[in-house]
Amino acid sequence: MIIRRAKIRGRDGLFDIRIEDNVIAEISSDIQARDEEEIDVEGRLVTPPFIDMHFHLDSVLTLGDPRFNQSGTLLEGIEIWSEYKKKLTIEDIVDRARRALMLMISYGTTRIRTHADVTDKKLTTVKGLLEVKRLFRDVVDVQITAFPQDGILTEPENRELLEKAVEMGADNVGMIPHLEYTREDGVKSIDIAFEIAKRYDKDIDGHVDETDDEHSRFLEVVAAKTIKENYIGRVTAGHATAMHSYNDAYADKLYRLLRKAEVTIVPNPLINIHLQGRYDKYPKRRGLARIKELLANGVNVALGHDCIMDPWYPLGRGDMMLVLFMAVHVAQLMGYDELIKSFDLITTNAAKALRINSIYGVEKGKKADLIVLDAFNEIEALAHLKRPLYVIKNGKIISMKTREEVEVADPLTGKLVKFDEKMLRKSSSYY
Ligand SMILES: [Zn+2]
Repeated sequence: MIIRRAKIRGRDGLFDIRIEDNVIAEISSDIQARDEEEIDVEGRLVTPPFIDMHFHLDSVLTLGDPRFNQSGTLLEGIEIWSEYKKKLTIEDIVDRARRALMLMISYGTTRIRTHADVTDKKLTTVKGLLEVKRLFRDVVDVQITAFPQDGILTEPENRELLEKAVEMGADNVGMIPHLEYTREDGVKSIDIAFEIAKRYDKDIDGHVDETDDEHSRFLEVVAAKTIKENYIGRVTAGHATAMHSYNDAYADKLYRLLRKAEVTIVPNPLINIHLQGRYDKYPKRRGLARIKELLANGVNVALGHDCIMDPWYPLGRGDMMLVLFMAVHVAQLMGYDELIKSFDLITTNAAKALRINSIYGVEKGKKADLIVLDAFNEIEALAHLKRPLYVIKNGKIISMKTREEVEVADPLTGKLVKFDEKMLRKSSSYY
């Protein structure tokens, strides 16, 4: 396959990209060879596929079952989920995940790190998601984190369930220290997660400090443990919303610790802006990890979608650009350079956390996993939020969109004319 006239992030000019089998064989400004399968993308932006670093596939698309979350709080969401959990089956998980993954793929995501709630005593979640990972491996790379939703030390059998999930094939070890009964238990739960991870040689991906409580400071414990256990670069902390409420002196200490430990922070902007700040009157906190400051201090940050139509989040369309859209607003990353660079949060920064840099990217010799955005640069992509034209995995098209035609009345003449976002560009200077 040859993709003609592609814009590649960070490079001037347009390029042809030749794919052989499942590898990018050549990138040059004019490839002479012809191929039966050629796509002229007319200058559109081509990027590696988006990566969703934090998702819950086991609860996806359960909205309203057994009931809707009327308060819109995290805790009511957890209650509803514990009711749903009682009737989980492997078939149900596979069916919902299949439909959700198709949606996510159509928006350009082909790598997902999902949590499997291992406080489900039958571990149906883990069995179901292992089946999802196996069945759909040709179209999506799924990593499973064994996630103790209700805590590791809150029930006597939870530690064993966590370890069993890892034995069954979960890729990463999770934790949720701020939900343990006491600070001491929270610290102990971090020790247990590290102990299991080291024994099975797994990475760690915790839900850490997902609260507005400025006294919730487990992230520093996680970072310090990462350094002491020499687990540098193998630890991810999701949410970390309490960081929003820390004082600046403490936040500054934390940045240095996180950078040293090479801990990746994964905010989930759609869910954080929905669930945090719930105890506040006005002014209300935003409750999002400090993305801008973390990046400025050399900390790796990637994003997660977290939920789609489940007990915690009633909306969502599986679109990482929409997640990024929320992030650049709430974190105020709207400077020109910030907007252009913001795509790292859903691409290369996540690849770094997953340690797949050697195969990931639009470069010769890397895997032929690409998306052709229906936009000509990063700013246009974020402004219009359109589905990608093509999603390519292992050198094969796994999602495509026919180019849409819209007719709108021209205010000058009143007549219907073809409208395309390209028309907006003529009067602007960014292109
Ligand atoms: Zn989560």
